[in-house]
Amino acid sequence: MLNLVLFGPPGAGKGTQSQKLIEKYGLIHLSTGDLLRSEIAQGTDLGLEAKKLMDQGILVPDAVVISMISHKLDANKEAKGFIFDGFPRTVAQAEALDQLLESKNAPISGMVALEVNDTELEQRLLLRGKDSGRPDDANPEVIRKRIKEYNDKTAPVAGFYQSQNKFKSINGIGSVEEIFNTIGAVIDSY
Ligand code: AMP
Repeated sequence: MLNLVLFGPPGAGKGTQSQKLIEKYGLIHLSTGDLLRSEIAQGTDLGLEAKKLMDQGILVPDAVVISMISHKLDANKEAKGFIFDGFPRTVAQAEALDQLLESKNAPISGMVALEVNDTELEQRLLLRGKDSGRPDDANPEVIRKRIKEYNDKTAPVAGFYQSQNKFKSINGIGSVEEIFNTIGAVIDSY
């Protein structure tokens, strides 16, 4: 089983690369951001609660996203593997994911981090906001808050995988194809 964590700040290109990777490797894409937006679109209680935080650029509670991922893993028992996109975003989430995967005997193969500087991220997100329709992409203050949440709470997750010798960082600035090929080379080395 191939279980990849695609890591990086908001706007690093994780969603774009995930789409290409699932096609090439036949994996299931698990994006907690997409799952939360789907809850919002369906108007569920969970979605309404999450939206309040998401619109401010604040992370939703660990228990909420861990439970969503747990359900998705159970619902895809025959999968060849998963791409985790936007999850885990805290060390507690990373620990929970290890436990969930332990019961399946299918550990994380590795984490690939897309490195992009903050100025480039802000520009990319504002540009994306013009057609993504996402409220959190439209407001420069919320974008900066999301990047701050990433630096404060999510960046330490890299150390978690580093200590397991599963971390690889690559340049996230370049053409989509170039970056895709670099990620592919890392995956093929697993
Ligand atoms: P994303 O689509 O990954 O940029 O996520 C959009 C928003 O959803 C984030 O700013 C958070 O508010 C929330 N979110 C998504 N994934 C997580 C996660 N793993 N942990 C906590 N909050 C999350």
